[in-house]
Amino acid sequence: SLSKIIVVSTLSSGSLIAYSEANTNNRNRGRVAHADAVASKKKKVVVLGTGWAAMTFLKNLNNCIYEVEVVSPRNFFLFTPLLPSVTCGKVEARSIVEPIRNIIRKKNIDVRYREAECTKIDPANNKIYCRATANTNSKRQEEFAIDYDYLIIYNNLHASDPIGTTIIAVGAQVNTFNTHGVEGNCHFLKEIDDAQKIRRNVIDAFEKASLPNLTEEERKKILHFVVVGGGPTGVEFAAELHDFMNEDVVKLYPMVQNFVKITVLEATDHILNMFDKRITKFAEHKFGRDNIEVKLGSMVTKVTENEICTKAKGSDKTTSMPYGMVLWSTGIGPRPIVKDFMKQIGQGNRRALATDEWLRVEGVGNVYALGDCATINQRKVMEDITEIFKKADADNSGTLTLKEFQDISNDICERYSQMQLYLKSKPVRNIFDRPSQVKGKASKESIELRIEEFKSALSEVDTQLKNLPATAQVANQQGAYLAKCFNRMEECEINPEGPTRIRGTGRHRFRPFRYRHLGQFAPLGGEQTAAQLPGDWVSIGHSSKWLWYSIYASKQVSWRTRALVVSDWIRRFIFGRDTSGDT
Ligand code: FAD
Repeated sequence: SLSKIIVVSTLSSGSLIAYSEANTNNRNRGRVAHADAVASKKKKVVVLGTGWAAMTFLKNLNNCIYEVEVVSPRNFFLFTPLLPSVTCGKVEARSIVEPIRNIIRKKNIDVRYREAECTKIDPANNKIYCRATANTNSKRQEEFAIDYDYLIIYNNLHASDPIGTTIIAVGAQVNTFNTHGVEGNCHFLKEIDDAQKIRRNVIDAFEKASLPNLTEEERKKILHFVVVGGGPTGVEFAAELHDFMNEDVVKLYPMVQNFVKITVLEATDHILNMFDKRITKFAEHKFGRDNIEVKLGSMVTKVTENEICTKAKGSDKTTSMPYGMVLWSTGIGPRPIVKDFMKQIGQGNRRALATDEWLRVEGVGNVYALGDCATINQRKVMEDITEIFKKADADNSGTLTLKEFQDISNDICERYSQMQLYLKSKPVRNIFDRPSQVKGKASKESIELRIEEFKSALSEVDTQLKNLPATAQVANQQGAYLAKCFNRMEECEINPEGPTRIRGTGRHRFRPFRYRHLGQFAPLGGEQTAAQLPGDWVSIGHSSKWLWYSIYASKQVSWRTRALVVSDWIRRFIFGRDTSGDT
């Protein structure tokens, strides 16, 4: 029942494009034939990446007017929150990855995947340059370009601009801050290969330390695990390693267990400093009890083959210590392709692509950016809010009705929504949370008072502006939001659903992206987890660990990975971790 299908379609520009889908099954054949029939009406969307943001976008996109081309060097989606569990054999690598073709084959829209890396985005010519990841032995096959300007797509401002769309969701890379010796001597934990490499190294370290003819000092050096960065990833890895020692090493390598040491180096005054103070304090105490040494205010200056050099905060004195393995986990920075694109569009001095609240890259109408590679330009949002006030003042010259006031405040809320969770001051939050709840007849004075409250709140907000965190939660919500916008693009062109436009008349087509913080976890080892849930609700202990298990199982991208992850957890409970080295 397998056959080869060639589809040739005439596009709006009159050019011909041919593509082949080899070994397509019957189900796909019908879909491609349908795609052919409607090809001339299709709108081109190029998606860069197969991570959280891109995967959620693809999963939620269901309008068949789009022709989607996905470009990514990774042909699978990776469930990153479980990467630390892979490093010590709690969960298998294959359990947390899902082939992207499994995800797109279930779609009723025309999606094609190219295993390639995007090397350049050329917004002036609406072109994407790519290099195939697989070695093809031919430069012609290896390098190719994708045009996204030959199909009609509604861009942001006009309904009929003849340009397609690119969605940049390439994530970020590890930031080494150009620290000497980090590349080459340290491990990173970003991709599945990294986790597998760490796992092999951890097991190798125990096997090496168990060899005869080693001095005590040599065994200690081999079994000294250093984690640089006390953020959630570094802390979780240290906790995983500690559990591995306690639960498996004591049984399997009893002769070397006393030589093991775990050190966490953190440049600031606390680990987990993006969490509530109660969690930070608990984690530091727990690590102290578990003999995990936490060195606060410790900045790494250099890493050599055998030693890691640090400088204490406020002092010029450097100290060094021998190590067996270092995990570098100090945050993220932009990928080269994003840096290059930012330079081209005049954002060269930024750390991530600046977008507006509709996730459109500032200054480039038909390019969207989401996930770790992008950040919403909060300052621009504030400028817009100020402009709404000015406009309201000018329009109403002091005679604002309740309805008008509600419209304005709802408008402000929409603009403001994505940052509200990051504001520490509760009164400010209250003002912005539900302005439409102003009920009853409002006197002119009370409305003016409320506007004054808004204004003073705004000046407070201005000093507290923070970017959205680079998390899967944000990327996931942005992907789902953008897919929803794309699904309704045509409909909303006719009936805009968003807030009123600040400049000019009419409404925006969509409500701006609104981030809903669902909470965050920090596994601390010993089946204990700290959970910080919405409303500043903090829970630490075994019950939160069960919450962690259930949420991470439910968030799996497919039933296949869900079944694999849960069976890995059960296997570990019954049989312990898998300590075979080369798996
Ligand atoms: P990614 O998921 O990184 O995806 C980027 C995609 O782009 C990949 O498919 C990559 O192959 C592709 N790509 C790269 N370069 C190119 C190129 N040149 N051309 C085309 N494609 C390219 N967040 C949470 O919310 N909760 C957690 O518990 C959590 N735990 C984490 C644990 C670890 C160890 C790590 C590393 C991260 C964790 N995060 C967590 C953060 C979360 O993984 C990221 O915020 C999220 O992956 C960002 O999604 P993204 O789509 O922007 O990028």
